[in-house]
Amino acid sequence: MKFNAKWQSFAQQSRQITNAYDCLCIEDLNMKAMSQSMNFGKSVADNGWGMFTTFLQYKLEEVGKQIVRTDKFFASSQLCSVCGYQNPDTKNLSVREWSCPYCQAHHNRDINAAVNIRNEGMRIALA
Ligand SMILES: [Zn+2]
Repeated sequence: MKFNAKWQSFAQQSRQITNAYDCLCIEDLNMKAMSQSMNFGKSVADNGWGMFTTFLQYKLEEVGKQIVRTDKFFASSQLCSVCGYQNPDTKNLSVREWSCPYCQAHHNRDINAAVNIRNEGMRIALA
């Protein structure tokens, strides 16, 4: 994607998100470390996540809304969003679904992580 097209897409998407939500909770990912440790090469670092979240923050704050970044050490993928059990097995990225051994809740990896980020973000926002 050419730079201008990406820039326009970021502007449009951040405007839509800003119109739809009052508070946005995101994970403060360390993209450089992540791409190095997982051998994603440049693909993750270059996809513009940092720039996109800068757009989002600007748009949200412009209208008095809030963006909350969870700590990069927050274990969003490992915690059961129902009971809080921490499952180290999910460190393996190939685990896409899992059942909590404590409360038996069944999780889709990404949805569970998103719920955890929302809950943690709201905890920070309301603190
Ligand atoms: Zn659980």
